[in-house]
Amino acid sequence: MKQVKLSVLKGDITKVEVDAIVNAANSSLLGGGGVDGAIHKAGGPAILEECKQIIARQGGCPTGEAVITTAGNLPAKYVIHTVGPVWQGGSKQEEELLANCYYNSLRIAGEKNLQSIAFPNISTGVYGYPKDKAAEVAVAAVKSYLQQHPSSIKEVVFVCFDDENYELYSRLLDE
Ligand code: ADP
Repeated sequence: MKQVKLSVLKGDITKVEVDAIVNAANSSLLGGGGVDGAIHKAGGPAILEECKQIIARQGGCPTGEAVITTAGNLPAKYVIHTVGPVWQGGSKQEEELLANCYYNSLRIAGEKNLQSIAFPNISTGVYGYPKDKAAEVAVAAVKSYLQQHPSSIKEVVFVCFDDENYELYSRLLDE
């Protein structure tokens, strides 16, 4: 864990040059709005093609799980698609499911021997997860996973699209 760098970046995750960027997908994997729409738009049709093949093989992607595809035309090498929970007030295992998104994405990155991975602020857009709570879950999940599972991963970037998330992550990573 000591040798893993955690950092925060403000901006558009489709522009980040890492081994894998994570997509906040929905369980159909067929694309949507927000970061999902931006990734498919910038990455081109190869990503959706591979998502469709995955759907044909395994059906949809359950909440908290993740799958990996090509990154098409993006500067990243892969896209890891994970499905965040819809916020329903906090008593529907949202916290555990959100942490699973981070665990499973890191696990897949490690299995592929990747060194760098960038996460968006999963579930904090249309899915309505309170940003402060989501940021705490994200940082704690990444730290605990990396501590318990030494792997190829050397760098984790939290990519924040809005000021509020950027402030929250900056503060949490400072501590
Ligand atoms: P969800 O359905 O999981 O809430 P959204 O895509 O609606 O997914 O939002 C997740 C987060 O991604 C939000 O904080 C949103 O501001 C952010 N976001 C939207 N577009 C981008 C982008 N191009 N790069 C990085 N983050 C983005």
